[in-house]
Amino acid sequence: MFDLKSLFSPEGACATVLPGWRSRPQQLAMAEAVERAIADNSVLLAEAGTGTGKTLAYLIPALLSGGKVVISTGTKALQDQLFHRDLPAARRALKSPVKVALLKGRANYVCHHHLQRNLADGRFAHRDDAAWLQKIARFAETSSSGDRAEAEGIPEDATAWQYAISSRDTCLGSECSHFKDCFVMAARKAALDAEVVVVNHHLFFADLWLKDEGVAELLPACNTVVLDEAHQLAETAAQFFGETLSTAQLLDLAGDTKRLAAVKAGDFPALRRAAEDLAKVTRDLRLAFPQNPVKSTIAELARYDKWPDALKALSSALDETAKLLETQAERDADLKNCFERAQAVQATLASWQRADDPDNPRVHWLETTLSSLLLHATPLSVGAMFGAKLTERAQAWILTSATLAVGGDFTHLKTRLGIETAETLCVDSPFDYPRQGVLYVPQGLPAPNTPDFTDAVVNAALPVLEVSRGRAFILFTSLRALEKARGLLFDAFKARGWDYPLLVQGDAPKNELLARFQKAGNAVLLGSQSFWEGVDMPGDALSVVIIDKLPFQPPDDPVVAARIAQAEKNGGKPFMDYQLPHAAISLKQGAGRLIRTETDRGVLMICDTRLADKPYGRLLLNALPAMTRTRKLEVVERFFASPLASPVIEGEAAQPVPHVL
Ligand code: SF4
Repeated sequence: MFDLKSLFSPEGACATVLPGWRSRPQQLAMAEAVERAIADNSVLLAEAGTGTGKTLAYLIPALLSGGKVVISTGTKALQDQLFHRDLPAARRALKSPVKVALLKGRANYVCHHHLQRNLADGRFAHRDDAAWLQKIARFAETSSSGDRAEAEGIPEDATAWQYAISSRDTCLGSECSHFKDCFVMAARKAALDAEVVVVNHHLFFADLWLKDEGVAELLPACNTVVLDEAHQLAETAAQFFGETLSTAQLLDLAGDTKRLAAVKAGDFPALRRAAEDLAKVTRDLRLAFPQNPVKSTIAELARYDKWPDALKALSSALDETAKLLETQAERDADLKNCFERAQAVQATLASWQRADDPDNPRVHWLETTLSSLLLHATPLSVGAMFGAKLTERAQAWILTSATLAVGGDFTHLKTRLGIETAETLCVDSPFDYPRQGVLYVPQGLPAPNTPDFTDAVVNAALPVLEVSRGRAFILFTSLRALEKARGLLFDAFKARGWDYPLLVQGDAPKNELLARFQKAGNAVLLGSQSFWEGVDMPGDALSVVIIDKLPFQPPDDPVVAARIAQAEKNGGKPFMDYQLPHAAISLKQGAGRLIRTETDRGVLMICDTRLADKPYGRLLLNALPAMTRTRKLEVVERFFASPLASPVIEGEAAQPVPHVL
């Protein structure tokens, strides 16, 4: 019989079985809290500082509990890491024979129906798609899982995959002739049979929570649900509890209808013409917005003069296509599927245009991308729906992340998720932050809303990059600032004869940029939102993280503006209750990229002087790791000049650290 104290002791099973594992009281404290929550079927919010080992801290008690467990992580990469590295480690430590399953979204599995149909059809957008599709067909014949990650020699991002997968819209379900040997259905069945299932948040909300066919029984059957990276939950839930209709979706429908009209309903040319018209008016709808990007609430759309007619034309083309599809639906399962998709799209479009439901306030808004237009209806709050689910049946819910609380206070997250009565736990990082890191807020920088702010950030960053010899992430809150800084840094590096590779978000896929950064050992990487979290770069290659501005959400974003207005209407204080805690958690995420192990050392430079000058800066500072704080460049210079010395210098970082740095 195992008990947690002995398992996590320096001589326990973890130490014996797991190479490099080290006993940490923080990890044991979290494991014990998780064990209690599972025993009581309660909801636990557990913030675990970097280096705690939170994954084992929930896996071990979850496996010991013996019931069915679903674990959801933030991304597919983290899901794979948990399934292939952490879960086997926990099973080894416990000698646990439990059945485990990795369940991904349907787009990760080959769909026999669409693969066969598109091979027969032979019409592709790119010249080499046909050859890749033949390879995918050979893979599908021999694979037992159909998981595209296992298709050796076929790039995961090959465009041909789009012809070999299904979507929720295009899957024929039980009417499919391949239903019995379908990879998606097999993966779902394996998940239902397993005792531990690993998913990601998108799949969790799209399929498990909203009960896509085939996995509806999974969540109710669980004894324990673990949601890792739980700081993302409110935003991800809002995405899935709302509705989105994209022009890409409409163009797919028009394209499929046109193709099927030619193959399956050649004697009914009106359908082909309707599909062509639908494609044309869909493209016109996007063209009603010549500029990009646009984000606008439905109420503000009147200022785009082409919009009303373009929307009317789309509605009537869609109605006509649906009407004609209905007359042909009985001829073929794919035509029937197109008819059902057209009906679903009609319903979403109508609901998007309707006035709001006072019981479920949503903001109806629109955004453009380079080639697409998306109509969203986003709930202003997910708390009622999310919170109700967590107490629906006797289950334990463990929500964890390195960043859930603001200075130990969980109110913000509890309110957003509707779980005011949840138990909470904060376990500190075992790192020695005052010795391992310096927080540097330069003096004399202009206010972040001044036009030359980015120039000033670059000028302040250069002396730091000089002493650190590159090895830096510079994280921006906007793409515009990132682009401006790219030019300024390129010129500055050239003028100084520096050969630090300058890597910029968007120039290559994220993983490739990170691999190049690690390999170079002296690179400077410029990133915006996607680099603020989920990046683990231990070691010397990353020794400086520079943040340009405090990461407040843009107040003119339609969803943010609507949430602020609603909070004001309800008599709340949106800045203190919503905007500030949100910024504190994002800042903590960005800062968390710097020190990843007990031997890492580095400088966190935050160029927004509101951190030191504004009264609310104290709250943001207190949310950050307790590094040595300074406003003097010479402290940074000394830190890098003597790699073995502590940055704690008398007079610079006396404790308690004053608010004004
Ligand atoms: S059931 Fe759906 S996913 Fe499976 S083969 Fe048929 S269409 Fe494809």
